Amino acid sequence: MNLTTRLSELARIRTTTEPVVSVYLDTHWTDEHQRERVRVFLKTELRKARDAATGPGSTRDLAWIEAESEALIAQARVPEARGVALLAGEAVGLREVLPVRARFDNLFVLGPAPHLRPLAAAAARAEHVLVVFVDAESARLVPVEVDGAGDEVSLESDVPGQHRRGGWAQLAQSRYQRHIRDHRGRHFDAVAAAVSELADGSGIRRLVLAGEREVVAAFRKHLPDALATTVAGTVAASRHEAVAILVDRATDLVDQAGREGAGRDADDTLTEAAKGGRAIAGLEGTLEAVLRGTVHRLYLLEGFDEPGQACTACGGLQPGADDRCRRCGAPTTAAELGEAMVNRVLATGGRVEPLATHPGLDGAGGVAARLRYAL
Ligand SMILES: [Zn+2]
Repeated sequence: MNLTTRLSELARIRTTTEPVVSVYLDTHWTDEHQRERVRVFLKTELRKARDAATGPGSTRDLAWIEAESEALIAQARVPEARGVALLAGEAVGLREVLPVRARFDNLFVLGPAPHLRPLAAAAARAEHVLVVFVDAESARLVPVEVDGAGDEVSLESDVPGQHRRGGWAQLAQSRYQRHIRDHRGRHFDAVAAAVSELADGSGIRRLVLAGEREVVAAFRKHLPDALATTVAGTVAASRHEAVAILVDRATDLVDQAGREGAGRDADDTLTEAAKGGRAIAGLEGTLEAVLRGTVHRLYLLEGFDEPGQACTACGGLQPGADDRCRRCGAPTTAAELGEAMVNRVLATGGRVEPLATHPGLDGAGGVAARLRYAL
């Protein structure tokens, strides 16, 4: 799934009749209590939504949400996903289940458009990661994409090649076997060769190394420089540990690095804005940039919430309650400006980076943007 592409399509959906239902669930089931928490959350929210339902489409949307959620909770249908988004809007032909490796807080929103902020955050940090577990005589390679872990590939020097699978798994295994044969059992070199083979052209952006600290440090020296610079860090792991646990640790590490990176990018954006470059800080300027479709990256605080109006004619966004557009005088409809900006930016191919906290952004009214061209 290309989440970025799908997001820009979802961001163009709007309904003027029955609302779109957006539900985010934390499906990182660590124990039965966690499942129960999600059940209780859904029950409460579905009851409220049914009380407010305006038509038969909404009733069917809510029934679908309930059935899909129950299937998720009962069967762990997407066990590798730690968060799931469910979007339903019969009026616009929308019924979608989006599992992702990112974690979500439970959230239930009814609105004229899909609520996309949590998904946008997941997409912004969705780097294609390869987890490389290595010990003295074996290795495990696990690709992790935005929607969870892919098939694991095992590399072992004492096992003849078992090329039962096709695609990249076979490529990695055959490369490893060939290297081991040609270089008299130099296991680390052979693993590095297999990893290089995978990284070339497969879109892998980051490596996470896993294993015992000394072993991983020794292996790391065998990686070519270009690959070594993509290492996000190292996590502890043992040879027979469940792949889900390995992926969990790696995901936490990469997400943390991603958040820190986004925080630094936001700082740079604020500096650039202060110099009058291709960046803008504050609500008014960002609204203008959003309207012109020039936002490359939007940084906003996760809790950003600003009531405002969207023009029905020119698309202008403005704070306050005035129901006439201050640009063109046409009637406006009420809109939360954070959501409105997020959807516009996604629809025009930009990225959105919600940040939990950021002192600089806080001081700038909670929002800033990196621009394609200066305003
Ligand atoms: Zn207008």
